[in-house]
Amino acid sequence: MNITRTIKYEADRVKGFGDEVMKVPGCEKLKDCIQCGTCSGVCPLSVYMDYTPRQVMELTRFDFKKEVLSSKTIWLCASCYACTCECPREIRITDIMYELKQRAIHEGVYPRKFPIPVLAQEFEKMVTANGRISEMPLVMKLFMKTDPLGAMGNWQMGLDLMKTGRFSLASEKINNREQLAKMFAAAEEKA
Ligand code: SF4
Ligand code: SF4
Repeated sequence: MNITRTIKYEADRVKGFGDEVMKVPGCEKLKDCIQCGTCSGVCPLSVYMDYTPRQVMELTRFDFKKEVLSSKTIWLCASCYACTCECPREIRITDIMYELKQRAIHEGVYPRKFPIPVLAQEFEKMVTANGRISEMPLVMKLFMKTDPLGAMGNWQMGLDLMKTGRFSLASEKINNREQLAKMFAAAEEKA
C-alpha cells in the first residue's frame, strides 16, 4: 500500500477533535509526541498502511478527523503493542488506534467493503445478542458484506477447517442472555 502524502489545509481540520481524543483515559500523552517515527519504524504493518502510525498520531493531534477515521491504518493495526513499548514519550499508540476505531464505527466513516471494520461490527452484534459468536454465520455475513464471490473461492478451506473441528456450523448462544444485556447496558451507561 502506498503511504499517503498530500498537502493538508487548515480548512480540513475539525477543531477540537484532537483534544477530544486526548481527553480519553490512556490517550492523554499524545500531546507529547515528538514525531520521532519510532512507532512507524517498529510497526510490522506500516508498509501496508495508507498513513504510518507516526502520521496518524500527528493527524489526530491536529484535528484531521476525516483522514484518520477513514484511514485503513487504524484497521490494519494488529494491536501488537510494539509501538507502544518503544515510544520514547510513553504514548499509548495502540490504545489511541482503538479509540479511533471506535469513533470510526460510531460515525460510520470506516472504509466501505474493507473486511476488518465489518468483521468487528458483526462480531460485536453477535456477542451482544447471543453472548458468543457462531463461526459460520459470522463468516458468511462478512463475505456477503465485503466480497460475496470470495466465499466461493474459500469453500475448500472452510471444509478442511470443519473436518478438523476448527470451524463450526453450530449456532451458539449462552444461557441468561438477559443478564448479559444488563451488563452491556451498565457498561454503556458508565462510558
Ligand atoms: S514513537 Fe511516540 S513520540 Fe515517536 S512519533 Fe511515535 S508516537 Fe510520537
Ligand atoms: S500496535 Fe498497531 S500500530 Fe503499533 S506496531 Fe503494532 S500493528 Fe503497528
